Amino acid sequence: ADALLCYCRAGFEPELAAELSERAALANLPGYARTERDSGYVEFLGADATALSRAVPFASLIFARQKLLRLADLRGLDPRDRITPILAALEATATADTARASYGELWVEHPDSEAGKPLAGLARSFGNALRPALRKAGWLARSDDPTRPRLHVVFLAGDHAVLARGDTRDSAPWPLGIPRLRMHADAPSRSALKLEEALITLLDDDERQRLLREDMRAADLGAAPGGWSWVLMREGLRVVSIDNGPLRPHLLDSGRVEHLRADGFHWQPKAPLDWMVCDMVEQPRRVAERMATWLREGWCKHTIFNLKLPMKKRWDETRLCLDLFTQQTQRPVRIRARQLYHDREEITVFASTR
Ligand code: SAM
Repeated sequence: ADALLCYCRAGFEPELAAELSERAALANLPGYARTERDSGYVEFLGADATALSRAVPFASLIFARQKLLRLADLRGLDPRDRITPILAALEATATADTARASYGELWVEHPDSEAGKPLAGLARSFGNALRPALRKAGWLARSDDPTRPRLHVVFLAGDHAVLARGDTRDSAPWPLGIPRLRMHADAPSRSALKLEEALITLLDDDERQRLLREDMRAADLGAAPGGWSWVLMREGLRVVSIDNGPLRPHLLDSGRVEHLRADGFHWQPKAPLDWMVCDMVEQPRRVAERMATWLREGWCKHTIFNLKLPMKKRWDETRLCLDLFTQQTQRPVRIRARQLYHDREEITVFASTR
């Protein structure tokens, strides 16, 4: 492997590049990021990519939707035969890297960008042609095997593809790094998808089992029209929804949701809650400080909140807000942050007291 290849939301390449550069420097594996604005991906070169990948687990990255090891950068591909150079590049990795090992799955992808989206048809048809050729050459398991690494072919143009390897325990389990969630007919808002995605990406299976239980109590700050409260209610929780705006009436019919018209920056619970979630549109520093107060004072044990990032220096602001949050909680907390697929100019943070 000669580089890290990470995907991100188009437009957030500078944030991902800054994040990777900082993490690489901290790991004593400095290198440089290469990217183009709005391309939807960043390559990180110059460091020992395998060591860097180990030092920077996917779950710890904020702006990456996917993290892969680049095996080869194949330019000038002949549209009449793109398979032969791919097989040749794989042969080359077999001698340079480790032994020839078979991959558990093949994903043919493209960046989630204006330039990348038109390549979706090519990716699909090429995948169907490449799969049998890889099996025949012994590179691909006969049936999907998640215990083995994944082979990625990422089309950047019709004649330009990157060959990469994904570790199934250290990468996003979705093509393009995008979880496909369907909007439920009863959901009060599209924002519901954000909290659903947060629960499946920021919590692991064990945490979802332990931390989301029938009749646990939650507060939802900035709840209207009620998407997040609806998600929590469907998990069996009892929710106090704080917002001066109206909630969709069917939420209240459930008997599990109570609506309070109050200021989310001042309201506090009378007794400790299990959860507090917050989607208030406010300055991110102000939100981070208020969230820290909740954990410090023990008003909740777990929280998921959004930090809106409409400003220019979004990486600096992210660092500053997360540092502020960690300092001010004044107790050990597990914290994970990510720009979710359903997040636009914002990131989502999960924090939990140990
Ligand atoms: N999470 C919601 C959902 O899933 O439907 C959407 C929330 S919307 C993005 C932001 C909400 O925050 C608005 O309804 C707004 O009224 C509320 N809000 C903003 N500042 C607030 C404050 N200080 N106190 C309470 N609510 C506030």
